[in-house]
Amino acid sequence: MDIAPARLLEVTRRLLRYAGSHADEAEVVSDHLVGANLAGHDSHGVGLLPFYVRSIGKGWLEPNTRAKLVRDEGALLSFDGGYGYGQAVAREAMLAALERCRDTGLVLMTLRDAHHIGRVGSYGEQSIAAGFVSIHFVNVIDHDPLVAPYGGRYARYGTNPICVAMPGGAESPPILLDMATSTYPLGKTRVAMNKGETLPDGIVLDPDGEPSNDPSVMFKQPGGALLPLGGELGGHKGYGLAFVFELLAGGLSGGGTIQPGTPRRGGIVNNMTTIVIDPARLVEQPWLEHELDALVRYSLDTPANAHGPVKLPGEPERTTAAARRDRIPIDPTTWSAILAAGEQVGLTQTEVAAVLEG
Ligand code: NAD
Repeated sequence: MDIAPARLLEVTRRLLRYAGSHADEAEVVSDHLVGANLAGHDSHGVGLLPFYVRSIGKGWLEPNTRAKLVRDEGALLSFDGGYGYGQAVAREAMLAALERCRDTGLVLMTLRDAHHIGRVGSYGEQSIAAGFVSIHFVNVIDHDPLVAPYGGRYARYGTNPICVAMPGGAESPPILLDMATSTYPLGKTRVAMNKGETLPDGIVLDPDGEPSNDPSVMFKQPGGALLPLGGELGGHKGYGLAFVFELLAGGLSGGGTIQPGTPRRGGIVNNMTTIVIDPARLVEQPWLEHELDALVRYSLDTPANAHGPVKLPGEPERTTAAARRDRIPIDPTTWSAILAAGEQVGLTQTEVAAVLEG
């Protein structure tokens, strides 16, 4: 089914309110989730609501938790997310880092123990809006590992994403590279399973460590493994990035890496280490914009091959957002799960239908 973004936002807001969030938190989290759907990342959109309701029920997610500042030393800021909605505590921690960067020109901000922070690109977008460059390293703990190391059959770490964000130039849009270090994040296998689709080669291994095209292997016990990005059986570069993000995000934040001594309750906890840079403290702004514009023109000025035309990091999301401005597609399995999660917390299907009808 297709749903108008404003209506989907209202259903999401209500569901989150019924699940215990105050109005401001419901607003922030629903904006993030529907924003992910608009960007084409359904894996990080409203389809997560059933998981969040489950996490609240289990005590793994604490609604209405604020990011707690635990270290404040000039350009160094550390936050504890207290297992609150990652979308809310990470946004709050980013606002503090951006504010500090106006004074210091450079900030290293860590956030530990946030429940799932969702689409990391949204924090890069906060930085772009402030005119700053940002780099975000993330690891994923609190549940069994999902991604096999290069050369291994079984999962040993998370989908550990990275995001690099930079404001645009006079002619160029902002640059937003935002990606998992596995070929697919887990959510994309859930979306494929819900749509009854098979996966391309090079995405998952089955529970025996053999290549598979079945997305449901990721949701069985024992489960399969996602492959690190960069090759047919996964790549050493994706593996290497994910490995060091365990240390940068899990180690430096104090939240912990996915090694088996770190508690695994079954939820999703993210740790994030973020670097925010004020580019104007390093180089002349017009010069940097000129460099970006020239680089963009040069990159795009090549004939397309079979994967072409050449696009910029962040461009597919902008194109999808424009195409989804009026209608966001939600597959029936995902929608049924959202309705069931709503009913669990007191949002009736009659109320949802009334919102959808306006
Ligand atoms: P993806 O593979 O769809 O895109 C990755 C990046 O490549 C994006 O920056 C995109 O703009 C760019 N891109 C895509 N096609 C392109 C092309 N043709 N030319 C140039 N650039 C192109 O992203 P993904 O790896 O599937 O990740 C999806 C989302 O999942 C991200 O928002 C990520 O933050 C999120 N994620 C979150 C977690 C978490 O624990 N919170 C874990 C993993 C992933």
